[in-house]
Amino acid sequence: GLPEVPARPVAERRVSRQIHVGPVAVGGGAPVSVQSMTTTRTSDIGATLQQIAELTASGCQIVRVACPTQDDADALATIAKKSQIPVIADIHFQPKYVFAAIEAGCAAVRVNPGNIKQFDDKVREIARAAKDHGTPIRIGVNAGSLDRRLLEKYGKATPEALVESALWEASLFEEHDFRDIKISVKHNDPVVMIEAYRQLAAQCDYPLHLGVTEAGPAFQGTIKSSVAFGALLSQGIGDTIRVSLSAPPAEEVKVGIQILESLGLRQRRLEIVSCPSCGRAQVDVYKLADEVTAGLEGMEVPLRVAVMGCVVNGPGEAREADLGVASGNGKGQIFVKGEVVKTVPESKIVETLIEEAMKIAEQMEQDGAGS
Ligand code: SF4
Repeated sequence: GLPEVPARPVAERRVSRQIHVGPVAVGGGAPVSVQSMTTTRTSDIGATLQQIAELTASGCQIVRVACPTQDDADALATIAKKSQIPVIADIHFQPKYVFAAIEAGCAAVRVNPGNIKQFDDKVREIARAAKDHGTPIRIGVNAGSLDRRLLEKYGKATPEALVESALWEASLFEEHDFRDIKISVKHNDPVVMIEAYRQLAAQCDYPLHLGVTEAGPAFQGTIKSSVAFGALLSQGIGDTIRVSLSAPPAEEVKVGIQILESLGLRQRRLEIVSCPSCGRAQVDVYKLADEVTAGLEGMEVPLRVAVMGCVVNGPGEAREADLGVASGNGKGQIFVKGEVVKTVPESKIVETLIEEAMKIAEQMEQDGAGS
């Protein structure tokens, strides 16, 4: 299982109330969780469950599925039952699907009550149904679908507009004494998004779901989300994260996990410490780092592996790591826990590192360090 205790968190976490999305606690000091969203038609139960299984394997802890039609709503019960991780139904406008999702046993529902305000008593009914089933609600405010009233008031989707919208949406549930809520205020511009979450964090104690919406293709989206989440998490803001990429959802999960590990909010698993290479390098560092990364993929224990191009900083870094190589003169000095255990020809560096890593991993698992 995933570590309960953060490795060395970047900041004290903001104090927030706690909700439970299925077995996953969100807020109230719970570890920051990573979530994603399926891209399949939800009504295609087989394909959706297949993608959820892939997401689960990649480390995803909560999955959201869209529910735009009755066929999708009809599929929710089976999906919620068979999914290995809690399922959130994502619903716009249609109160009947909200009730269906709650009845189906979804772990949470994403819905903006402002959307359904015109059916006024429906908000009360949703609050009652959600309370009866212990189903939390995510209010998800998006720059792209901001309430017209607020767009007119602020001129565009400013941080203030997003926050006002979110707090107004929350108040519609609070009127019915429902507070089992988490909130997101997404924008595609990290600067606006960061400011919106800062303001929201100061004005309520709901747990927050971080997201940069429409972040873009993998490279750009990874950077936008990393920068924005880093800025917020380093101030203790954020309880669950979703990286949005125009890429397969398992990629979002990998990025999300790396962000949390980079900030010490989750214990690292494999970490490759490789030098950028320079004119002194006596080996192809990029290739070596890629090959070592590929060879150790899927390793569950927290292992720090140093891959260094020469003997200047090489031995020093390699000594600090659990395992490392410092290259020079067509050879690699292999270090384990700071000791040179062997020197091998360049062609044997990768396989030797992988071999030694497996030994250390086995030892760590026996010692229980990987739990
Ligand atoms: Fe350059 Fe050596 Fe440092 Fe790598 S370890 S960047 S090759 S000096």
